[in-house]
Amino acid sequence: MGQGQKGFFTDTTLCIGCKACEVACKQWNQLPDDGFNFTGMSYDNTGHLGASTWRHVAFVERSADSGPQRPVPTPGVNTALPASFSWLMASDVCKHCQRAGCLEACPTGAIIRTEFDSVYIQPDVCNGCGYCVTACPFGVVERREDDGRAWKCTLCYDRLGDDMTPACAKHCPTESIQFGDLDELKERAKVRLERLHELGVSDAYLYGADAESQPGTGGLNAFFLLVDKPEVYNLPPDPVVPTVKGHQAWRQVGWGSLGMVALALGAVLFGRGAGR
Ligand code: SF4
Ligand code: SF4
Repeated sequence: MGQGQKGFFTDTTLCIGCKACEVACKQWNQLPDDGFNFTGMSYDNTGHLGASTWRHVAFVERSADSGPQRPVPTPGVNTALPASFSWLMASDVCKHCQRAGCLEACPTGAIIRTEFDSVYIQPDVCNGCGYCVTACPFGVVERREDDGRAWKCTLCYDRLGDDMTPACAKHCPTESIQFGDLDELKERAKVRLERLHELGVSDAYLYGADAESQPGTGGLNAFFLLVDKPEVYNLPPDPVVPTVKGHQAWRQVGWGSLGMVALALGAVLFGRGAGR
């Protein structure tokens, strides 16, 4: 597989909630189970991304009064559901951000940008400080209770090196998860978006596909097609990497200091002029 920018395009309108992606990810990466919990609130039994859940399929349950009903229209297929209830389904993952808060916050150099432009945590370098956990605007990274180190999706770094597709994308039966060159994925996403708009799904849009639409992260290498507000999918509407604000603050301090120096210089020069 060639190097360069690789990523995921997750088209949530194609997801059927089968969880093949979650299982394939766990199996390939040998992730421990999540305790076989029953939340009692949803068919979603894993709840959220975490140290042992690197793909998480959200089941967003919608009643008749929470907006347009789904699934989206599909020509030739009867997708009618009882009018009172529907689901939005979305397979969430680490976004491999262009400006990655986790990477910028890591003090040991454990988090690196790979030759595929993905964000990778080196387990043998991570010291478990947890700075990355608080620096991720999406709540993706988590420390594992047993060893204390931070874990998240690797974009199947080991598979990419062997010219293989990441396990989740490989096993998604509906191609809701697509993997490939980032530029090509963006083109595919635009075509799909136009098609959905033609079908009358006017609220479909791309989340995080570029820096213009998401300046706080510089754009996501794992971006999404959504049909409702980001918050509905438990995604932040305007994610910002903490260091963006830090740099802005330092810039303001810098300009403030320059202003003080200019004032002081002006006062000295004025004082000299007045003394002559
Ligand atoms: S989503 Fe979070 S964990 Fe993933 S690259 Fe971005 S900041 Fe890091
Ligand atoms: S494998 Fe594909 S269709 Fe099944 S839950 Fe995952 S993203 Fe959805």
